[in-house]
Amino acid sequence: MPHVSLNDGPTPMYDSFGRHLHYLRVSLTDACNLRCVYCMPEDIIFRPASTLLQDDEILILLRVAASLGVDKVRFTGGEPTVRRGIVALVQAVKTIPGIERLTMTTNGIRLAELARPLAEAGLDQVNVSIDTLDPVKFRQITRRGDLDEVWRGVAAAEAAGLRPIKLNCVVTRGFNDGDVVELARLTLTRPWNVRFIELMPLGKVADFQQSQVVPSVETRATIEAALGPLALVPGHNGHDPAKSYRLDGAIGQLGFISSVTEPFCEGCNRLRLTADGRLRLCLLRDDEVDLLTPLRSGADFETLRRLMAEGAYHKPWGHRLEQHEIATSREMSQIGG
Ligand code: SAM
Ligand code: SF4
Repeated sequence: MPHVSLNDGPTPMYDSFGRHLHYLRVSLTDACNLRCVYCMPEDIIFRPASTLLQDDEILILLRVAASLGVDKVRFTGGEPTVRRGIVALVQAVKTIPGIERLTMTTNGIRLAELARPLAEAGLDQVNVSIDTLDPVKFRQITRRGDLDEVWRGVAAAEAAGLRPIKLNCVVTRGFNDGDVVELARLTLTRPWNVRFIELMPLGKVADFQQSQVVPSVETRATIEAALGPLALVPGHNGHDPAKSYRLDGAIGQLGFISSVTEPFCEGCNRLRLTADGRLRLCLLRDDEVDLLTPLRSGADFETLRRLMAEGAYHKPWGHRLEQHEIATSREMSQIGG
């Protein structure tokens, strides 16, 4: 069992495997303005707002997390920019002692209007999801998105200083596996980090996801065949799920996130908080700790701190996809990736 001290300083969280957990991904909502085929069923029903963490509840849980040594927070969703009051929330989180870095993963649709206020509120960086440069395919994959809006969002983020710009591309066979070359080509002329993510099976769309997965080795080979050899960027940080490469003469980088074929569980330093207030211990496992119920029943700071630390201690090791075990309790959109 972890020891949680009652003094005021942060007490680092470790799990039973000795991994130091100090990065929290917070899903601000399960709702989204897109319906990506690999992320959620088209007819998904979003949770009622009353069942989701309110701003003050998020701030309490983030203070608890910071007291346990969490120094990096990423807002995700659903789509985090559809949450009302997002700019004020960013500003409030930036005042929490110990939280040094606050970032966001977004589909970019609302960034054109929000990038500057978010940057002024203290947001440090954004990852924007973009799976293809083809507007027709983009609409197919997202079931409704307008690619131009995303590009306007990327430009606004760059102008607002939310750098380095990272673009996330989930590679889905039959949808965009041929588009990886044009996305990779962007790094020749732009200082961006374009990251290719293996499709992960989760929730109701798991069968689809499993049949469409493209291993990173294949994506790398497709890019190399078209654009030449990729050089591994030295000095890989063991906590970064992406392995970084560079095309000859490129000013940006390519990243490959191979969660399915080359899991990086050993370097995992993250926990997740779902929009309905559960501490999710591993993206691809259903183990969760309910923090919302104690929070709403009046649990004090130390109780929440103990619940979080004890939950973290039991973080499982790795997904069990080889054993055909798939986490089914939530869609990806309800966890935030
Ligand atoms: N709506 C935001 C967005 O799209 O960036 C944030 C939430 S989204 C769930 C976070 C990341 O997960 C995105 O980069 C998205 O492409 C990725 N993602 C969604 N479903 C996935 C899946 N089945 N496998 C791998 N990545 C997935
Ligand atoms: Fe929405 Fe992001 Fe999921 Fe696409 S990947 S449906 S944008 S939450």
